Amino acid sequence: MIGNLIPYGIMLVTAGCALWRGAPYATLPFLGFMCLWYTIRMILTRGDDKPVVDEKDARRERSLVILVGIGMVYVPIAVLAAPILDFAAYDALPGQIALGFLVGLLGAYIFWRSHADLGKNWSPHLELREGHHLVTGGIYAWMRHPMYTAIFLINGAQMLMLTNWIAGPLGLATFILLYLARIGAEEEMMRESFAEEWEVYAANTPRLLPRRMR
Ligand code: SAH
Repeated sequence: MIGNLIPYGIMLVTAGCALWRGAPYATLPFLGFMCLWYTIRMILTRGDDKPVVDEKDARRERSLVILVGIGMVYVPIAVLAAPILDFAAYDALPGQIALGFLVGLLGAYIFWRSHADLGKNWSPHLELREGHHLVTGGIYAWMRHPMYTAIFLINGAQMLMLTNWIAGPLGLATFILLYLARIGAEEEMMRESFAEEWEVYAANTPRLLPRRMR
């Protein structure tokens, strides 16, 4: 429980450093969003996890998640707190931060809906848990991978709000790698486990962009 609060401390210290040194970024709105996404995940995944009964590509999965952590969390925090990449900072175009804010809000909403609908079937890696069932309702009736849609939107918000040619796009670059490496294996795992149920679901529901067909 206490451990869950540590990221807020880190974000608070980061905000303090960034404001104190006059970092050339939309510091508070961007950190506010990081807090929001983190809070959604923390609240909706709290409680005990069910045991994992099947796991795919464990080592590759863990490396990819660390890589995405670097692109979406560690580098943005470091860049705000310290002047390490300020040479790549640029001035936002008019409306850029506001657009990032809207994209971030939409991402947060879809992120929240997907965590709420997936419930205890969620895993950061490719895993099936005890009593795993195929979720096809709620936001999963609109697309098969709403959490990835949400993360792509969050990547868009990072790109728009963290006005740095390197750190801004880094979240998207690292998440694209995870997505491309994982998506085939994830769908294969679902097909293996849920057979006909998955086939019918996949045939009627698009991957990332919403379209309600049933
Ligand atoms: N790809 C989904 C879920 C991401 S979390 C999305 O973007 O919303 C990854 C884990 O979710 C996988 O390990 C798998 O076990 C589980 N999963 C993915 N789709 C699922 C579904 N429709 N129902 C239940 N579990 C699912």
